[in-house]
Amino acid sequence: MSKFGINTNSIHAGYRPGNGEPRNIPIIQSTTFRYETSEAMGKLFDLEASGYFYTRLQNPTNDHVAAKICALEGGTAAMLTSSGQAANFYAVFNIASCGDHVVASSAIYGGTYNLFAVTMKRMGVEFTFVEPDCSDEELEAAFRPNTKAVFGETLANPALAVLDIERFAKAAHAHGVPLIVDNTFPTPVNCRPFEWGADIVTHSTTKYMDGHANAVGGAIVDSGKFDWNAHADKFPGLTTPDESYHGVTYTERFGLEGAYITKATAQLMRDFGAIPAPMNAYLLNVGLETLPLRMARHCENAQKVAEYLQSHEKVAWVTYPGLPGDKHHALAAKYMPHGTCGVVAFGVKGGRAAAEKFMAGLELASIATHVADAKTCVLHPASATHRQMNDEELRAAGVSPDLVRFSVGIESIEDILADIEKALAGV
Ligand SMILES: *Cc1c(COP(=O)(O)O)cnc(C)c1O
Repeated sequence: MSKFGINTNSIHAGYRPGNGEPRNIPIIQSTTFRYETSEAMGKLFDLEASGYFYTRLQNPTNDHVAAKICALEGGTAAMLTSSGQAANFYAVFNIASCGDHVVASSAIYGGTYNLFAVTMKRMGVEFTFVEPDCSDEELEAAFRPNTKAVFGETLANPALAVLDIERFAKAAHAHGVPLIVDNTFPTPVNCRPFEWGADIVTHSTTKYMDGHANAVGGAIVDSGKFDWNAHADKFPGLTTPDESYHGVTYTERFGLEGAYITKATAQLMRDFGAIPAPMNAYLLNVGLETLPLRMARHCENAQKVAEYLQSHEKVAWVTYPGLPGDKHHALAAKYMPHGTCGVVAFGVKGGRAAAEKFMAGLELASIATHVADAKTCVLHPASATHRQMNDEELRAAGVSPDLVRFSVGIESIEDILADIEKALAGV
C-alpha cells in the first residue's frame, strides 16, 4: 500500500477485503479463536505459525488498524496498545529493564515524564533528562555505558518544542542505541520521523488520530532499520533465546523488520495485557480515514489563532512553531513543512489568575483534560496534567505556571476567534 499517497493510505492501508467480504474493517469481538487440533495451536504458542489465539495478545481488528498506522509512518511492523501511556512504556521497557539507562528529552508530556522519572525508576530503569535545545556536549554527557535508548517528542505536549530529530538520532546511533520518538502531535501527516533517522515511533492515538475524543489508545511502529545484531550485547532480549517463549531468538526468527514488535507482543502484551478493545480500534480507524483533512484544518485554524493572540494587548506571549518569530520555527520548517499541529500555547498578562479568568470566560471552547480533537478545548497544565511537577521541573519541561494550552478545533475560525476575543475582554 505504501506506493500510494498519504490520503489514500489513510483510507485504504491495512485492510483490503476479499470478494464478498465487509468493506469496513470488521469488529472481531471475540476473546478467542478456534483450532482443529492442539498441534495447530501449539505451533502458534511456539511462534512457529502466525495466527490468533487470544485477544490479550493479538486481535485481527487491532492488527488491521496497526497496519494502517504502520503504512502512514513508513514502518515495517506496528502494534496497538490500550493507551499512549502503555505505548511509551512498552516501547522503552521492550529494550531497557532493571539496571539500564535511557536518555530522554525533558520537554515531554507530563504523564510520560512521571512514567519515566517515578514509575520506571522504581522498576530500576534510570533516566537522564536533557533539554531538547541542549548543546551537543550536554547531550553527549548524558550517555552511560548502560544506556539503551534515547527518547523524545517530535513536537512536545504542551511546550511545543520541536525535536531536532536528526541530531538526536545521530547521537543515539553513535552510542549504538535507537531513537524512540512520540509523534502524537504532528502525526505522520505532518512529520515522518523515520525519514530523519528515528528508529521507533509511538503515538497516543487518543489525540488527532482518533480525533473525536472517542477512544483512548496508543500505537508503536518500528522502522525496521535499527541493527540490533550490530549491538547484540546491549540488547540480549532481542538477540539471545527467550526462554519464556521456547527459546525463540527474535532477531533470528523475525529479522530486523519484525523482531522488536514481535517481542513487545509476545512478552509485554502477554504479561501486561494493555490491549485495546476491537471496538476502540474500529473507532480509531474511522478517525484515521479523515486524518489528513482534519490536520490541514487544525493547522490552518491554529495559525490564525496564534496570529490573533500575538497581536492582542492582553496576551503576554504566544508559542506556536508556525509563527515566524517562534523559537522552533526553523526546526518546524525543516521537519514539519506542511504544518505542525492545532495546539497553541500562550500566557495571559497577569499570570496564573488571569489565565484562569480567561478560561472561565470561554463559551465555545471547553475546559477539558484533552487535546487534539475536532472540538476546541483548553487546559491549564500547571494545575492539571503537569500538577505533579514542581516549578523547576515545570520550567525544564517548558511549561510556565501561566501557560494556557489552547487546542484549536476544526470549527469555523470566525467563531473560535470571537470566543477568544470575548474571553480576553473579560480579563
Ligand atoms: C496524551 C499523550 C500521551 C499519553 O497518551 P494516553 O493515550 O492519554 O495514554 C503520550 N504522549 C503524548 C505526546 C500525549 O499527548
